[in-house]
Amino acid sequence: MEKVEIKPDIRQLSLDNLIAQLTDLGEKPFRARQIYEWLWAKSATDFDSMTNLSLSLRDLLKNNYSIRSLSVSEAQISSDKTIKSGFKLFDGNIVEGVLIPTEKRMTACISSQVGCSLSCKFCATGTLERKRNLEAGEIYDQVVLINRQAMENYGIPLSNIVMMGMGEPLLNYANVLKGIERLTSPDGLNIAPKRITLSTAGIAKMIRKLADDQVRFNLALSLHAADDEKRNSIMAINETNSLEELKEALIYFYNQTENKITLEYIAFKNFNLGEEDAKNLVRFASTIPCKINIIEYNPIDNAKFKRAGVDELDKFTAFLEKKGLIVNVRRSRGKDIDAACGQLANKSKK
Ligand code: SAH
Repeated sequence: MEKVEIKPDIRQLSLDNLIAQLTDLGEKPFRARQIYEWLWAKSATDFDSMTNLSLSLRDLLKNNYSIRSLSVSEAQISSDKTIKSGFKLFDGNIVEGVLIPTEKRMTACISSQVGCSLSCKFCATGTLERKRNLEAGEIYDQVVLINRQAMENYGIPLSNIVMMGMGEPLLNYANVLKGIERLTSPDGLNIAPKRITLSTAGIAKMIRKLADDQVRFNLALSLHAADDEKRNSIMAINETNSLEELKEALIYFYNQTENKITLEYIAFKNFNLGEEDAKNLVRFASTIPCKINIIEYNPIDNAKFKRAGVDELDKFTAFLEKKGLIVNVRRSRGKDIDAACGQLANKSKK
């Protein structure tokens, strides 16, 4: 059995809470600021490393709090330089994160939940049970650790972050937003919000909440089919979040934030690339300020889908472009190590 730490996680405290608690313990407010800096900007994983604090204060902190930081339990490097890591959480659970180096970008793909509750038919994570939400600190740590890998392996820091790993980020709303706040804050990692993209399977109410909260990061919707019947058959979440509701929520999001939406569309052979599908997609997308990312399908165990061929894909893409939509076709990365989109399922190399 893993030993479960029962002391409260100090990173769950806001700076104001930390100041209040330290004052209660007889310390000055500036000490709280120093600790906060260690916890976030300096990503300290233990109290002993907080060398500008007295030994007695470090002991006091140790006796009262824990730091539930992540560690890399396993890392695999793909032939295309993608690195997939298993991150071990304080309670022994594992989530996965991926470093994707391209010529222009160093992207970290991070997880928001242990497992996922949505069971999309084409996604490996969907076959896992959703065990729990990640804490803001656990979301943050994935970026810290992947950035370290980027520096150690390629000498280049992260430029972009995508919340496209395990889990549905909008079903862990508060922690995800808190994690992103820490990532973007000048007293955190100071990453520009424009360089962060949150991908959702589509929860209309929460998309509206993002809009009301005036977020500054990018939003992507995993669309994959633009008629309700077809989308219901591959993504059960669509049954309670129809395309019409999603469309309205996305337009609302754009009006509030002025951030264009990305629509993700997996190319499934003989399933969603026909002429009718293309027309449906044009109908859906033309009223939304958006661009479309067509994603290669990455085969997973026990799924009935196949990757589309070049001809089918080209015809589909050409139709969309002719109708004035902005379309990018995205090649998958890290396929040889099951690190590509939808393949994260805690499969190790053994
Ligand atoms: N729950 C969120 C984020 C995780 S999935 C969401 O659904 O958006 C990140 C992206 O990978 C989504 O667009 C998802 O639909 C896609 N994906 C899932 N399984 C895939 C597969 N087998 N091949 C290619 N992309 C996949």
